[in-house]
Amino acid sequence: MNCPRCAVPLRDVTPDLEMRDVHGLGCPQCQGHWLEQQDLERLQQVVDVTWFEFRHIPPPALQAEVLTCPRCAPARHLNKVLSERDRKVVLDVCAHCQGVWLDGGELHAIQEKGVGAALLDAVRFFMGKR
Ligand SMILES: [Zn+2]
Ligand SMILES: [Zn+2]
Repeated sequence: MNCPRCAVPLRDVTPDLEMRDVHGLGCPQCQGHWLEQQDLERLQQVVDVTWFEFRHIPPPALQAEVLTCPRCAPARHLNKVLSERDRKVVLDVCAHCQGVWLDGGELHAIQEKGVGAALLDAVRFFMGKR
């Protein structure tokens, strides 16, 4: 699978997450991050409801760019999901395979505060669709 922004191969970043049973792929170039449906489901079990402040958020123009799902490419585009708590945070999610793309700045904040809280909005998005 390739990065939806850089088109370079994603690598396994599971050890960086430091979360049991949650796997992830990352882009070595833009530091973006890809999580799949089964990982989101595991996250629901360990989610910390405490929200946090994002730092180093990508500029709006970069966030607004429409991305193609790395798993379903080239057929599917990712949907934008705005965080209810922080409108500056935009998650890119695939309505088909239910994967989630996080930009590099978002990953940075997540590594500091815990990936579970950051993905709560993505989880809610998928719950709402069911
Ligand atoms: Zn990239
Ligand atoms: Zn997909």
